[in-house]
Amino acid sequence: MKFNSDFKNIAENYLFAEVADRASKYAAAHPDQKVLKLGIGDVTLPIAPAVTAAMHGAVDEMARKETFRGYGPYEGYGFLRECIRSYYDEMDVELDADEIFVSDGAKSDLGNILDIFAKDNTILIPDPVYPVYVDTNIMAGRKIVFADANESNGFLPMPDYNVDADVIYICSPNNPTGAAYSVAQLEEWVKYALEKDAVILYDAAYESFITDKSAARSIYLVKGAKKCAIEICSLSKTAGFTGTRCGYTVIPHALARDGYSANNLWFRRQATKFNGVPYVIQRGAAAVFTPDGRKQIKQNLAVYQRNAAKIAGCMDELGIWYTGGKNSPYIWLKCPNGMGSWEFFDYLLNNAQVVGTPGAGFGKNGEGFFRLTAFGSEETTQEAVERIKKLLTV
Ligand code: PLP
Repeated sequence: MKFNSDFKNIAENYLFAEVADRASKYAAAHPDQKVLKLGIGDVTLPIAPAVTAAMHGAVDEMARKETFRGYGPYEGYGFLRECIRSYYDEMDVELDADEIFVSDGAKSDLGNILDIFAKDNTILIPDPVYPVYVDTNIMAGRKIVFADANESNGFLPMPDYNVDADVIYICSPNNPTGAAYSVAQLEEWVKYALEKDAVILYDAAYESFITDKSAARSIYLVKGAKKCAIEICSLSKTAGFTGTRCGYTVIPHALARDGYSANNLWFRRQATKFNGVPYVIQRGAAAVFTPDGRKQIKQNLAVYQRNAAKIAGCMDELGIWYTGGKNSPYIWLKCPNGMGSWEFFDYLLNNAQVVGTPGAGFGKNGEGFFRLTAFGSEETTQEAVERIKKLLTV
């Protein structure tokens, strides 16, 4: 027996552990000081009442013989797929319900989707980005090339035709940079993918934070994208489902090569390795798309959006370069005075007792940058912004 030696190639993911460790050591040494955390990527507001009511109702159904349900469809219940289909319809994206697969969240699908692609594909991943893309491909022993995101391209890299790729990751609005592609920019990526005969894995986990008309909420707003793109989305940040677990992946029928349909392959994969999302959770997820659910979720999103605007406004006042803040719960700022990511982390913690996330943890191009999140409470965010302003005003 041999273990998968590709695991040796994964960098030790110490980022959040190191952040927590430094913050708790500081707090222990300074018990009289209040440490404010703007580092977390997790939501803090509870699930909307319309959603929990639907889940309660579903629990009661499970308690009665007449309405009890056992195994559900691998691809998700029709009632939820239909809700998601009409959600896309409102965006002017026409899908068939059987192009939508309900999942237990975007992270699982981002890792599992690799099952349907050949081993010898070359993978193109932006740097910096959500580390799951890199790690899952290293585990699978695939060759990775990087698309450099940096200050000069506003952390939105565009295709380079000198680079050959088979599987292209796009995360928009991006974690950690908060930068979001426009439809016109995505058109360039779709053109590139079609020319290279490649597939785009489009992570839309933060689409519900988009407020600008110019930013794209789906890759399928681009003509031709159905032939080359899979869209992976989540209710985690949209509806506070980080602990409840529900998302969806769209695989259009038009995505086919050499007699293989991506939709069929994924169905086959899921039918083999996945037994579906719990009925109770899917009932809750369906309620996210009802008028009441939407209204309540919008109120929660508005809290995070106000926090993001507050942090972005602070950077504007301080003259600090940043991306995000709009269309995203993340603010990605350039560390002042040429400081490194960890240097700024310590500076902020020691002098303002504010915790953020060092950009270097998201890829080599993240060095010298720093992520603040809008997922804290309004009070914490306000206080943190005031402290940052006081510290960095010269
Ligand atoms: N994609 C991105 C870009 C994320 O930032 C996250 C979570 O932080 C996920 C996917 C994971 O989402 P889920 O909770 O649905 O697994």
